[in-house]
Amino acid sequence: MNIGFQLFQLQGIDTEIYRSSKRLLQIAALLETDATVESARNNLADLRAKSEQIRSDFDLINQDIQQKKVKKSQSEASLYNGKVQNPKELQSLEMEIASLEKILKDLDQKLVEKLMLLDEAEAQESAGEADLKQAIAAFETSKSLLTAEKGNLETAIRNLNVKRTTYVAQIDQNALNTYETLRKSKNGLAVAHLQDDSCSACGSSLTASQCQQARSTSLLFLCPSCGRIVYGS
Ligand SMILES: [Zn+2]
Repeated sequence: MNIGFQLFQLQGIDTEIYRSSKRLLQIAALLETDATVESARNNLADLRAKSEQIRSDFDLINQDIQQKKVKKSQSEASLYNGKVQNPKELQSLEMEIASLEKILKDLDQKLVEKLMLLDEAEAQESAGEADLKQAIAAFETSKSLLTAEKGNLETAIRNLNVKRTTYVAQIDQNALNTYETLRKSKNGLAVAHLQDDSCSACGSSLTASQCQQARSTSLLFLCPSCGRIVYGS
């Protein structure tokens, strides 16, 4: 058999092993994390922080209201219990009560606004939770598909390696060394074939005698332009 052709077949096996191994690495990364799940998780964390902030603002306003109410009842008690007689003091108490009433009205308004914001934020939070759940479910489905693909690839690689060992045993060691060196330096494409009396890899035309050498069954012919092994049938 043409030694170049043997190497060409070996190259086919090696390319398949390389592609399958590369896909296995990709799968390993895909099984580890999922961008959609991560983004849904981050989004939910943001939404929860937002609700938390509104709840805390709401509580502060509420506390303020309670304090102002206590103060207002105290002032009202002083105004009506008859202990304060001085008209100036009485007038100042009345003014204080009026001012507290106004403040309380504003605070009530603010509380209602916060409550509306909180409703909205909690609805968004629920939607965010649903999104995350859905993303996790989709990830689980894709994980089971990827795991099946991984199993198939591992079997394929094992079979290819067995095939490779059989092929390599039939190939001359020197030719094999040339092939291995070229595979590294030529980006995986070590062997080209004769195509219209030219090298199929770089396209440079070969003389009749070079084509003859490329068809030799025992000697390797290297393309004078790109240095790859060229075989002809
Ligand atoms: Zn070439």
